[in-house]
Amino acid sequence: MENGETKSDPTTRKRRRFRIVLAGLFHETHTFLDGLTTWEAFDARESENLLNARGDASPLGGILDYANQHDWTVIPAIMATAVPSATVQDDVLEKYWQRWIELARQPVVAGVDAILLVLHGAFVSQSYKDVEGELLRRIRSMPGAESLPVFGIYDLHANFSQAMATFSDCLIAYRENPHWDARDSAIRAASLLQRSLNEGIRPRQYFAQAPIIWPPTGTASASEPMLGLLQLARQLEQDNPEFWAVNVNAGFAFADSPDTGVSFSIVTIGDELNAHAALRRLVELAILNAEKGNVLESPLDDVLGEWRNIANKSKLSGLTVIAEPSDNIGAGAPGDGTGLLRGLLKYAIDNAAVCLADPTAVQQLANKPIGGTFVLSLGGRANRLSYGPITLECKLLRLCDGSFELEDKQSHLASLCGDRFDMGKCAVVQHAGVTILLTSRRTPPMDLGQWRHVGIDPENLSVIGVKAAVAHRKAYDPIATRHVRIETIGPCQSRLAAFNYQHVRRPIYPLDPLNLNGSLHK
Ligand SMILES: [Zn+2]
Repeated sequence: MENGETKSDPTTRKRRRFRIVLAGLFHETHTFLDGLTTWEAFDARESENLLNARGDASPLGGILDYANQHDWTVIPAIMATAVPSATVQDDVLEKYWQRWIELARQPVVAGVDAILLVLHGAFVSQSYKDVEGELLRRIRSMPGAESLPVFGIYDLHANFSQAMATFSDCLIAYRENPHWDARDSAIRAASLLQRSLNEGIRPRQYFAQAPIIWPPTGTASASEPMLGLLQLARQLEQDNPEFWAVNVNAGFAFADSPDTGVSFSIVTIGDELNAHAALRRLVELAILNAEKGNVLESPLDDVLGEWRNIANKSKLSGLTVIAEPSDNIGAGAPGDGTGLLRGLLKYAIDNAAVCLADPTAVQQLANKPIGGTFVLSLGGRANRLSYGPITLECKLLRLCDGSFELEDKQSHLASLCGDRFDMGKCAVVQHAGVTILLTSRRTPPMDLGQWRHVGIDPENLSVIGVKAAVAHRKAYDPIATRHVRIETIGPCQSRLAAFNYQHVRRPIYPLDPLNLNGSLHK
């Protein structure tokens, strides 16, 4: 279609080994958090170290496996990943880009077939509200890369931008939340690149934004409104063979930017009008179901009070999972909020467990005798939107290292870290009926290995508190008898009007009203 590529003979192209530059930049940025995320927070893999991800459970591992099977020559640049956290320091993008140039400039000038990227889509730095768009723009302006195919994979929570659509050829989103399909989606992106190179066809991308932001609690792919949107996307792909992909982007509410919110993108080799007609249908359906995605929690006292009443009347059996979305680690929260812990103690709930990220407390307990009792000030220090620390007399049950192998290699967590996660040094303490796992590093609660590694079998508990919105459900639903969500104060609370948005497009629901006809009041 472009660059005269269709004129060359596809059969010759098939026999050649494709030379692909592989790189990645992955961060979900919570711009309402205090402080800045520095380069030290990133795990940067380059050259051989990047290639070592082959076979692991991450999207990068999936692409490397595909590359191996299809005999690509992979030219590794740099992949930098950090768990969700505050606005990223400018320096990070510049350091990353510097290495990108050092590792990829010469091969690109010498001649490669394409560039393949692992991205998130909600990366915000001090100067750039759309870091992925900026990165793609820089890649496009490299000598030799102006007309190269640029393909990639990204997270369904992307705040997709016009720049992302303009400066790349084919970006593929995960389709599931929790993201158990991250690796498979990356392989899908790689296979579309293979198809493009084999057939000498360059797709184009079109995109549209809906006037909607959903909190993370409203973005589960198994529930409306995402369920219906994803079904419509699959239908559109089926009805329009020229669509290589129809992406549903739920957006990431806590990254304050002009692109924040729900959007859709279509990768197509067909007609622009067709793509826009399909995008309109998706936007209309999103508006129709906008309110279903504005999922709010009930106050902690209501939920725990009722739970206590039911538990007193009838002997409750099985595990109750209580999610605390306001301290959602997977969305950038510090994971040290004490709201739910205070609730469990207030309602004297027995046989319960919670996890707090508290390196200070772990440090204080290092070298202390197991079985000893200590007064500890726990959690509540990492963010000003919190209840503050809670002082408790605790019995020390266990001290251990925190590196564990994921039980589920297709989990949301695997999409972030591959096969293993390191919680840092850990301590397990007990106060009244609550066992508290203290970790040195924030650990998104997406794999039960986190508990079993420290000697706690979550299936034997009556109540377990998790700091998450949706992503924990793949791990916890199979062992839970019931599941509730509570509202507490914290940086990832679902009530979006509580945040001081400065950069989002307006009007936008739920910050502005949505009328019943589905169009917005001006
Ligand atoms: Zn995500």
